[in-house]
This record gives sequence, structure tokens and C-alpha cells, in this order.
Amino acid sequence: MIVDSHCHLDRLDWDKLGLDLDEVLNKARKKQVEHFLCVSVTLDQFPSMLEKIAHYADVSASCGVHPLDQKFELDKAKLIDLASHQKVVAIGETGLDYYYSQETKQVQQASFVGHIEVANTLHKPLIIHTRDAKEDTINLMRAHKASQCGGVLHCFTEDLEMAKKALDLGFYISISGIVTFKNAKALQDVVKYLPLDRLLIETDSPYLAPVPHRGKTNQPAYVEDVAYFIADLKGLSFEQLAKATTDNFYNLFKIVKS
Ligand SMILES: [Zn+2]
Ligand SMILES: [Zn+2]
Repeated sequence: MIVDSHCHLDRLDWDKLGLDLDEVLNKARKKQVEHFLCVSVTLDQFPSMLEKIAHYADVSASCGVHPLDQKFELDKAKLIDLASHQKVVAIGETGLDYYYSQETKQVQQASFVGHIEVANTLHKPLIIHTRDAKEDTINLMRAHKASQCGGVLHCFTEDLEMAKKALDLGFYISISGIVTFKNAKALQDVVKYLPLDRLLIETDSPYLAPVPHRGKTNQPAYVEDVAYFIADLKGLSFEQLAKATTDNFYNLFKIVKS
């Protein structure tokens, strides 16, 4: 069995999929997916996201503000309040994205630091999004003791050097369907190196569907394709890769297997 460690179940394109949430989850369960982590991107939308997934025992939630979704200064008290819910197993996604937005560097950094502090306060791990911001991401993680709460660099596409620094801080690395792309040779080399006991897999759906579904809207069932691809890349059986990434997921997010 496998898990989708990062999906946005409240943002799926229902019209394109022609499925509702029940059907999307069932389809994934038939593809061996036994748990889903539904990731929050704004505090405003968090309550409605939580309401949609609350009654599924195999869906957990995170709470946080995406680095590219910041309209206001982070409301730390509100984040602490919302993230204290028992269904919330992680803080984020937070982080730094200078690829899409250079102008908001300062705001992103302040918000990222706020998330790290909340994660340490609540003892819940961080889900970190990082793109074209290697140095600042690692420096802020170090300066604000992100190693205390731990967490994951999700949808990782940076280089081995950065992966090593994150691993040194006790973090996990999560790989999405991007690794299956033809032009992802550099990332594939990084994944070959990553230690199996720190590896997670995800879809980040509805974005970036893996091969052979490229161009379609992504969904959690496709995490199976990511798992097969990475198993092959690392010379492992599907079962070995599945067991390791699933165990890692439960360990990191302290989820009791149902
Ligand atoms: Zn992200
Ligand atoms: Zn995401």
C-alpha cells in the first residue's frame, strides 16, 4: 500500500475529472493508496477544506499559507488556533518561491518564519515548498530551529546539495510526478541518491500529472505511477518502495495506522 503525502483535494478540477470527491478517493484506494494528506494553502479556505475531508478516516489535513498565496501578513494566532485541530498533522504548505515571485521575498520570509515558530509551538512537522530559494530556505530553517519540529521539503526539484542540507536537519524529501518527466534527468539523479528512510511520494494534485497522464488533471490515484517510477529508478521492487515511503509518512506525521 502507498500514500499520497501531498494533494489539494479541495482544488481538484471536478468538471474535467467527471468524478466527485468520494469517487476520486475510491479510485485511488483501488490503486493501493491507503492515506491522503490534504494540504492547505490559505487560512480563509481552511475551514471549508476541513469540512470536505473531515469524515474520511484515511484523509488527514495540514494548515498553513502557501508562499504564493499571501495577501496579508500571517495571522499567527489564527494559524495556531486552526492548526490545533486534531485532524491537522502538519503546518504548511509554507516556504519560499522566488521562481514565480521575487517581489514578495520579504513577505514570504516573514510568513515562513511564522510557520516554523508555530510548528515548534504545536510540535507538528512542516510542509515546505521551495523553489529557486535554496540558500534562504536552508538559512531560515537553521536560524529558526526547524530541526526541532522536522518536516518535509515537498515536490522537491532542487539539487543534491540542498537535499543533503535538508537531510542533515532531519527533514524528509517528497518527490512528485515531475520525476517521471523526460526532461527531469537531474532530479532523477538526486532521487537515486536519496536515502530510502527519508523519502516520501506525492501527487501535488491537481497540478503536474505524472507520465503517462501528462496534460491531464492530476489526482491521487496517480501516485501509484510515481511509486512505480521511483522503485524502478532506485532498483527496488514496488513493494519495497511502497513500504518504506508509507512507513516514513506515518512516522513523520505521527499518524496511527487505521
Ligand atoms: Zn507546493
Ligand atoms: Zn501543494
